[in-house]
Amino acid sequence: MKSKKLIIGNWKMYPASIEEARDKFTKIKKGASVLRNVQTIICPPFIYIGDLKKFITGRRVGLGVQNTWYENEGAYTGEVSPAQISSLGISSVIIGHSERRALGETDEMVNKKVSAALKAGLAVILCVGESERDRDGHYLKHIDNQIRIALRAVSRKDLPKIIIAYEPIWAIGKNALRAASAEDALEVSILIKKTLTSLYKKNADNVRILYGGSVNGKNAQEFLCNSQIDGLLVGRASLNPIVFSEILKSAENIK
Ligand code: PEP
Repeated sequence: MKSKKLIIGNWKMYPASIEEARDKFTKIKKGASVLRNVQTIICPPFIYIGDLKKFITGRRVGLGVQNTWYENEGAYTGEVSPAQISSLGISSVIIGHSERRALGETDEMVNKKVSAALKAGLAVILCVGESERDRDGHYLKHIDNQIRIALRAVSRKDLPKIIIAYEPIWAIGKNALRAASAEDALEVSILIKKTLTSLYKKNADNVRILYGGSVNGKNAQEFLCNSQIDGLLVGRASLNPIVFSEILKSAENIK
C-alpha cells in the first residue's frame, strides 16, 4: 500500500454546481483510473458525494470528505457524523484542515474527530502546519505538538489508517506568500517521522506523509522526489482536470 503514491484533491467549497462537479470528476477519473502507481482520492463538498459516488468503478479513484463531527448522532445541526460517512461507503476524511482550524476548530476537537473517525473505520488525513516560520524553529515544536494532541489515544493498530498532511498555512490557497520548497517539506517530513517514532517506535513506518500547499503541475515532481513524502494534498489545482492530470502523471512516473 505504501508504495503507491497517494494524491488527494481537496475541492474546498467548489465547484458551484453539481453539473460542474460531475464534469470535473469524470474527467479526472478517466485519466486517473489508468495509473497503476497512484491512488487518487477526491474530496468534494458533502452535498455532491452521493451523486459522484455513482461514477466510482474500480479502486484507483475514490472519494473522501473534508470534515466530520465527533459524535455519531445527536442534536448537531449542520454536522455530519463518521458513521453517516462510512454508511455511504466513503473511506477517507480530511481532519484539521487549516481552513477549519481558522473557523475555530481546536487541537482537542481535532483529536476527538480523529478518534471518532477511526472508530467508524475511516482513514484519516490529518492536516498539520504552521502559520509562519521563525528562525528559532518554534514552528517545528508547533507541528510536533499538533500531532501529539491529534493522535492522543490512537493505538498502533490504527496507524495504517493515519495519513499526515503537512500543509504550511503560508503556502496554501490563492493568498499564499509563496509555495514551500521541497527542502521546507523535507525538513517537516523528517520532523513528523521523529515525532511518530517517539510516540510509536518502529510502527511509525505505517503512517503515510503528504505535502500540501500550492502544488501544481510544475512543482509536484520536485516534492515527490525530494521531500521523503508518500503523496500530495492538492487544493486549487485539483479543480482543474488538466493540471490535476499533470500532477497525477508526475506521481505515476516517479521511480
Ligand atoms: C488545500 O486546500 O489543502 C491546499 C493545499 O490548497 P492549495 O493547493 O490551493 O494551496
